[in-house]
Order: sequence, then C-alpha cells, then structure tokens
Amino acid sequence: MRLAIISDIHANLEALQQVLEDIRRQQADRIVCLGDIVGYGADPVACIELVREQASMCVLGNHDAALFTDSQRAYFNPHALEAVRWTAEQLGADHRDYLRGLPYRISSDHMLFLHATPRAPEEWDYIFSGMEARMQARHFYERLCFIGHSHIPGVYPLDADVVEYDPEHRFMINVGSVGQPRDGNWRSSYGLLDTVAGSYENRRVEYDVEAAAAKIIANKLPSRLAERLKVGL
Ligand code: ZN
Repeated sequence: MRLAIISDIHANLEALQQVLEDIRRQQADRIVCLGDIVGYGADPVACIELVREQASMCVLGNHDAALFTDSQRAYFNPHALEAVRWTAEQLGADHRDYLRGLPYRISSDHMLFLHATPRAPEEWDYIFSGMEARMQARHFYERLCFIGHSHIPGVYPLDADVVEYDPEHRFMINVGSVGQPRDGNWRSSYGLLDTVAGSYENRRVEYDVEAAAAKIIANKLPSRLAERLKVGL
C-alpha cells in the first residue's frame, strides 16, 4: 500500500491542489490528514471540502479546534487569532460540524496518526527534536507515529542505533506542512509511505505561492501571513 500523509494545510488551496496532484501521480492508495485544515490562509471552505472528499481519515488540529472551542484561542498569537475570527465567518454549520467530529488520534495498521503528541494530543505540545520524539515513545505502542503541528518535516528513530527509515523499527515522523512550511523551504511538504517497498519519502511540491499570498492580502488577513509563505518560515 502507498499511503500519502498530509498535514497543516491551513486553508492554502493552491498548495493543497498541487499536493493532491502529486499524490495522484505517485499513485497513492489512501490519503490521511493530520489536521489544521484551516487557519492562516484564504480558502478554508474549499480546503475542508477537498479533504473531506479525498482523505480516508483525518484527525483534529489546534486551529480546527479553535473554531468550536474558545479555550484554544488563548494560546494563539494575534495574527493566528485574527485568522481564526475571519475563518469562523466563512464556515457554514456543516463545515464546523465536520471539524468538531474529527478525533484527536487514529490508530490503524500499526500506525498512529495525530496532530501534536501521543502523550496528550489535546494539549498541543510541540516535538522539535529527536530527543523530544524519543520521550514520547512509551506513550504509544504502534510502530509508526505520524505527526504535524510544528510544520517542520523530520524522521525520528525511536530505537537506539537506528539512523535511517526502515520497516523493522519504530519511528515518529513529522510530515511537514502543505500550506505553510516553516523549515526555510517554501514548497509544500507531505509524506509518502510505501508499505510494500518498506520506504518513506518526504516529498516537496511547488505551487503558486504568489496567488495564495495575494488572496490573503485581498481578504484583509494579516500581511505577515502572506509574506511568510514566500520564504517558508
Ligand atoms: Zn499548523
């Protein structure tokens, strides 16, 4: 099976469309989404509808949760908060209900899918390093754990003496962000797992970043959210 794992789309339709196109070319059998479909970008409705239609599984992200729980908003910076308020105005009841229905975690086929951390996915802590990833290892039993949230792709071995991805050992894998990469590379990031070949690949996909940025400005969202797309930070 070829499994495409996408995360942190953040209402960037231009990015999502190109990633879905690449996933088609790669002939993936299934798509899993790790949350944060909305927030920051200018196309929350179209992105929710595409994910709902094309992903076979999806978990909840903190920006999705902010649309139906006030408590999440306390942790947001002013730009993110402004985007949440704007996004709330765009969504209909069915879009909000879809987000509200997303689970924090899904376990399937020796794989765990969630947005933040296995220890407490609802606390939205970040994992930035191999050491932080290894501290999470005892909080799940699956072989693989796929995460998003930091927008920085990474493959973290959880067993000693393992350096590269292989199908025998345990790993935590951050697939990066489709709609707002933050590793200094503006290209969309997603993960492609091939369970037959025993391989994992972090793919980067070019998209019309100028068009996505222009829509953010046109909708009077904070201009910083447009600028950061162009530099991937
Ligand atoms: Zn995010």
